[in-house]
Parts: sequence; structure tokens; C-alpha cells
Amino acid sequence: MNCACSGGFATQAIHAGYEAGDHGDAAVPPIYLSAAFDLRDTARGDALSAGEQDGFAYSRVGNPTVAVLEARICALEHGRSAVAFGSGMGAVAAALLTAAEGGGRIIAPTSLYGASIDALRDYFPGFGIDADFVDDINDLRAVEALIGPDTRAIFAESVANPSTQVTDVAGLAEVAHRHGVAVIVDNTVPTPYLFRPLEHGADVVVHSTTKGLCGHGNALGGIVVDGGTFDWGTARFPQFSAPDLAISDERCGAWRSFSGRYGHDAFAARVRAKALHNLGAVQGAMDAYLQLMGIETLAVRVREQVRSATAIAQWLRRQPQVTRLQYTGLLAGEDKENTAALDLRLAQERADGHATQESLVRRYFPHGVGGLLSFTLAGGRDQVRALIDATQLFTYIPNIGDTRSLIVDPARITHREVPGSFHGSAGVGDDVVRLSIGLEDTRDLLDDLEHAFARAYGATMAA
Ligand SMILES: *Cc1c(COP(=O)(O)O)cnc(C)c1O
Repeated sequence: MNCACSGGFATQAIHAGYEAGDHGDAAVPPIYLSAAFDLRDTARGDALSAGEQDGFAYSRVGNPTVAVLEARICALEHGRSAVAFGSGMGAVAAALLTAAEGGGRIIAPTSLYGASIDALRDYFPGFGIDADFVDDINDLRAVEALIGPDTRAIFAESVANPSTQVTDVAGLAEVAHRHGVAVIVDNTVPTPYLFRPLEHGADVVVHSTTKGLCGHGNALGGIVVDGGTFDWGTARFPQFSAPDLAISDERCGAWRSFSGRYGHDAFAARVRAKALHNLGAVQGAMDAYLQLMGIETLAVRVREQVRSATAIAQWLRRQPQVTRLQYTGLLAGEDKENTAALDLRLAQERADGHATQESLVRRYFPHGVGGLLSFTLAGGRDQVRALIDATQLFTYIPNIGDTRSLIVDPARITHREVPGSFHGSAGVGDDVVRLSIGLEDTRDLLDDLEHAFARAYGATMAA
């Protein structure tokens, strides 16, 4: 779905991609619980099936409620087109498989989300798609050294979960584009309110919309947003130049390829026509509706979560039992250095090896990195268990970006598939606790942590 963009972020979060007049004048996007749609006549059926006419035929490849969600997130990310999926992993898998189809390789950091690591390290190789992992994705020389003839894309998270390390998207894009390689960014943690990767050179953005975008922990979803700027028609990506029956007409001998027919929109077109159509990880209309409702309040929610997470990070930094705090958000907005001066400093740092977290956060995340943070506890695994079991307001839930504040031990739960050799660089050791700050009163959250710390350390001291 193409997206028209106008107005500021908060305005678009409520209005983009929706015309009440197209939906019986309903103020709120209706939920179209219909598996299929009336094709009306054979000429129209033929045109719809060939993708030559806009409209809906079958909800696996398009649904009016889901289309509003696609247009809205596309507008918020300043993309050109978007394809929704039934989960974040549906979107991640579709984007990576579409880029690397036919024996390609993906370069990625060891700090990816657990399931993304498992997909790239263990599952995709069985289908002939391989990954080259780097410990530090901002080490641009190490990344460039890994680019070979089969490399198709660099895949990274804008803000890593749970370390909150920020990725140098602009630096990666420069390196990747020099070699005709695409940059795909998982922007789940900051959400487009805090960072828009396409504005800094990324070609494709993916999200788990389950998290901050939906924001209420009540629906699963994912999305692929295509910036429409990358040339997929080169020899590096043969799948885009090959004639494909799904978009051709065999009977009249009209064979077409995705890049021939869709040009710069070829990526999103192929994600929908092949990955969504054939793998079927489809977003349901009811879930799309819940996510649209959540997105309406995205700006105010994230602003408040960043404020509260900053206060909690400052408190954690003062606790003697916290041996290491992972929250790059504390580097945000500390001075008023201008963009040009920061760009100069970043260019120098990149030339010297890699950009520092401080420069990256100040330049690209002036409003913070989000409500996610993590920390290392003295005493290790036993103290992590004791702390989690002692919290009462923080709930022990493997999710992030919820209105509820959540606590988890990532090494055992969300990042269980991450091998031990990745733990150090990914910041997910057995002694790490992750918090996702919600919208409760900060004072109540601090009280809960204070009591839990006292109980965790008191109890094990006595034992
Ligand atoms: C949760 C998450 C995913 C996977 O999303 P699901 O909706 O759970 O499939 C991918 N990437 C990141 C960064 C995540 O936090």
C-alpha cells in the first residue's frame, strides 16, 4: 500500500492512511472480518489476480483493515510501501528471505533478538541462506571485510534488545551501498517516534508491532516497510530480474520480473506476492485494529516511558548491587551541540574505527532510545532469580513496550537461543535483568524495585 504523508508525527499516528468516506463514514477504521472479497466480474477478477488493479480479493494477501495499518506505519516511518505480517518474526523472516533468496548471505551482529539469531544461525542455513556474524556492528571495517559476492544485506537492530546499544545506520548504509548491498533495520525498540532508519540510509525497516507500536500487549504483529530507494535489479539479486509467473501472463507470452515491473517498489511487491502469499504469516483484521488503536497514542506513551525509564536508570546506577547498567538513553540530550558539529565528529570517529555510542545517541536519538533497559547484578544468576521473584508491580513477562512494566531474565527466556559465545557482545549473560518501563507512576515502580532489591539480597544473605 502506498502511503500519503502529511502533518506531524502525532497527527499522522491518528489520521494517516484512513479516509472515513471509503469506509461508510466510520470515525474509527472498521474491522473487516472477511476471508475473501467479491471479484464482481471476470475482467475485474483477472485484473485483481494479476495485480494490475488495486482492490481486495483474499485476506491472505490484502485486507482493508490491515491496509490501513500498513499505510499508517509506512507514513510514520517515511517509507514508500509496507506489508504487514502476523508477528514480528513473520516480518523479519520475510525481509531476510526475500533479500537472500537463492543462496545469499546476511551480515548481522551477535546482539540480535533471540529468534532472529536462531533463524540466521541455525534455521535458514538449512535452506541455503547463511549469516556472517560480527561482535560489533559499528566496526565498519570488520563489516566491510565480510562483504563478499553472495552478501545481500546487512541486518541490525537500531537499538539492540536488551543492551540498548545503538547501531550506526548511516555509517553501515555508506559501506553497504558502496558494494550494492542493502541495509535492513529492525526498528522495534525505539519505534518510529524516536528514530526513522530510512531517513539515515536504511533501505528496509522491519518491526515487531507487538511491542511499542501496539503498546498494550494485546496483539501480535509485524511489518516490513520499504523505503523504495534501493536498486534490486542488479546481478547481486537474480530473483528480482527473473521472469515470474505470479506477475506475468503465460497465455499471452507477457513475462515480467519484479524489478522490471515494479522498479524501486520491487522489494515490497515481492515480499507480498511471494513471502506473504506463499508462507502465509498473515496479519488478522482484528489484530490490525488493536494495533491501530495503540498507535494513536504512540507519541505520548513513548515520551512518558522515556522519562520514567531515565529516572529508573538513574536510580539503578546508584545501587551498589548493579555492577553494570545498559541504557544508552542516559547519553541523550545532555548538550546542545549542533547537527553539523556532531556529523563532523561522527565522520572523524568512523575514520578512526567506529562511532561512539555517545556521538550516535546525541546525533540520532535526541528524544531518547526508548523504555527498555537492562543491568547486571552482583551475585549472578541466583540474585537475578531472587529479584524477579520478589517484584510485585513489575510483571514477569517476555514482552516489551507494554503499558505494564515488565521484568525478565533474557538469557533464560527471550534470548534463550543465543549461544553462550555471543552473550558478552550481546549483553545477555545469566546475570542480566531486563526491564521494559510502562506507564505506571514512576514512584510506584521505584518502590517496587527498592523492596525487591532489599528482599533479593536480604534473603540470599540469610540463606
Ligand atoms: C519481539 C521482537 C521480535 C519478534 O517479534 P514477534 O512479534 O514476537 O514475532 C523481533 N525483533 C525484536 C527486536 C523484538 O523485540
